[in-house]
Amino acid sequence: MTSDVPLPAHAWPQLEPGWVWLCGAGPGDPGLLTLHAVNALRQADVVIYDALVQEAILEWAPQAEHIYAGKRGGKPSAKQRDISLRLVDLAREGKRVLRLKGGDPFVFGRGGEEAQTLVQHDVPVRIIPGISAGIGGLAYAGIPVTHRDVNQSVTFITGHDQSGNATGSLNWQAISDGSQVLVIYMGMKHIAQISSKLIAAGRPLSEPVAVVTTATTDEQRVLETTLGTIVDDIAAAGMEPPAIICVGSSVLMRQVLDWQGMAAGEPPRNLDPLGRGRPAESA
Ligand code: SAH
Repeated sequence: MTSDVPLPAHAWPQLEPGWVWLCGAGPGDPGLLTLHAVNALRQADVVIYDALVQEAILEWAPQAEHIYAGKRGGKPSAKQRDISLRLVDLAREGKRVLRLKGGDPFVFGRGGEEAQTLVQHDVPVRIIPGISAGIGGLAYAGIPVTHRDVNQSVTFITGHDQSGNATGSLNWQAISDGSQVLVIYMGMKHIAQISSKLIAAGRPLSEPVAVVTTATTDEQRVLETTLGTIVDDIAAAGMEPPAIICVGSSVLMRQVLDWQGMAAGEPPRNLDPLGRGRPAESA
């Protein structure tokens, strides 16, 4: 698809001068952009993007100035306040501003803070949701974030908070008891603490865990492990952030749903990984 391809007929909103659209870019694969994101990319004067936004996506806005506002844990990065105020300044200059963030802007992405600052400065905003890595990234690994035989709830967790380490401030007992499936963002740095808190809270050592790095990109890697062995296995595999970590039996579904592996010619490993003993379509 190129910029010559028209968007399908629809009352597409216009990105007006002086506005900021806060937009999710999805987890990586440009095909996971929304049509609203494409519409925004085509109109923007300036795109301010994060470290997790794939550079290829910027090619969809060749007319725009591209400004990097990366923030990655532990690396020198633009301060959040500076980024928010930069957005205010650009809007006040009469630019059509597209603030592009990885995944969904309101999922562990500080999108709420940026939007709040804009509103506090009387800058009009539009929010464009995106596919969050904790859902779409797992789907690319063949892991359904909910599955009727596994979970009736899912908990999204961040391994970092404002102090840099969320493991101290979270109630791991409640998290462990409350949800069969846990999806952990930014969990790599503190994975040793996270896994031991979950084990201490009663989750079994044998509980299936998947680690999906750079999900949906050509560099995607998936590690299947268990709570008891995750720390050693991550080190042995040399896996690096960004990663989504999924804890729970839904990880086993990858044995039948690794669609990328199947597309590459690998047979499914197990047609009934949850051991239901009956066809998937039966009630
Ligand atoms: N707003 C984003 C999350 C931002 S927090 C979203 O909705 O997806 C940054 C964290 O997101 C990373 O540390 C990692 O845990 C996760 N993440 C984002 N993109 C990812 C990707 N392509 N693969 C794996 N994890 C990803």
